Amino acid sequence: MKVDPTYERNLEIHLHGPGPSDVPAAVLRAISAATIGHLDSEFIKIMDEAQAMLRMLYQTENRMTIPISGTGSSGMETLVANLINPQDKVIVVRNGVFGGRIADTVSRFGGEVIPIDLEWGTVVTPEQIRKAFSRNRCHALFLVHAETSTGAHQQHMREIGQIVHQNDALFLVDTVTSLGGTEVKIDEWGIDAAYSGTQKCLSVPPGLSPITLNEKAMQKLRARKARSWYFDLGMIEQYWNEGYQRKYHHTAPINMIYALHEALRLVLQEGLDARFQRHRKNAAALQAGLETLGFTYLVKKQNERLPMLHAVYLPDGLEEGKLRQNIRARYNIEIGGGLGEFSGKAWRIGLMGHSSTKDKVGRLLNCIGEELKKHGIIDDATIGFQTAQAIYQNSES
Ligand SMILES: *Cc1c(COP(=O)(O)O)cnc(C)c1O
Repeated sequence: MKVDPTYERNLEIHLHGPGPSDVPAAVLRAISAATIGHLDSEFIKIMDEAQAMLRMLYQTENRMTIPISGTGSSGMETLVANLINPQDKVIVVRNGVFGGRIADTVSRFGGEVIPIDLEWGTVVTPEQIRKAFSRNRCHALFLVHAETSTGAHQQHMREIGQIVHQNDALFLVDTVTSLGGTEVKIDEWGIDAAYSGTQKCLSVPPGLSPITLNEKAMQKLRARKARSWYFDLGMIEQYWNEGYQRKYHHTAPINMIYALHEALRLVLQEGLDARFQRHRKNAAALQAGLETLGFTYLVKKQNERLPMLHAVYLPDGLEEGKLRQNIRARYNIEIGGGLGEFSGKAWRIGLMGHSSTKDKVGRLLNCIGEELKKHGIIDDATIGFQTAQAIYQNSES
């Protein structure tokens, strides 16, 4: 068997799906630095700095702010295994695939799911949450801040946090797609625990799940034994947190933590406000371009659309899978297909982290325009691109 070395293959692809996103060269360089021991003092310095930067990104003072070894879903499982007891009632907002995944996980760990089922593409209102609490004595509310399957951006976070605390429950949030692309204010919104992933707006390869828990959540979990050995935060904190013995639990994925460290450095160098503004600006231009080309958004309310994930229906007469394959083959651009209810019906176009630039928006619209012209949907392949340029000019003048 003859196998070419991985690095000799052509892997130059523009990632515009629902994650992973394009990884900056500096982050790839960080991954390729020499591996050192997970208890080495140089490595512990890198861990401490990564934690400090992660707290800034999450806008939190939480001491327990660390990356879990695993993709975004491992952070979700960590929260459930440590914070939900069998028979605990947990309100779960199900307005897309990831709310459904949370409900599945809670029930596998023995929790009782109290679902709030919503039409996909919508978000939950404070009133709906008040009502759910008034009917049940619930232990926690779990929701997704940025629903990657529909492109819906949960609003009213602070008000929801207040309702959860009036009911003496825990506020648990999935910030996988939002972190690094839009505001996530853990302390201000009263979030007790949250998790994220590295391959969306942080533009790191998949493999880590940054989590944060406040002292209230930590007290709850320290009072008993986690129902997972690998994700036992009581044990993991003795390795990660300053003041403990840096006790071995499992070998940290050293080079992934280099990558996260470098990506967080880049995020803070850009500045959170500038970064979120960049995501909004490119989103506005892409949206205008896509609408000119005849795409329509699955999320109807403008203020509930995510800047980093555009879930859209195609103009009539196009076969989404075929078109997506053509775009991948001809232009090396990856676009995501619809998920769950929207499988075969919609596209999900990501502008996450390093994939959110003016040049990349332009390339996307030009390539999509070319394909639509070939199918006779439009006459001028550049109209989407031109609309986007006009938006940029307006926002720059
Ligand atoms: C991607 C994603 C996840 C799952 O993350 P994995 O890294 O695939 O395990 C969870 N929630 C949301 C909202 C996501 O977008």
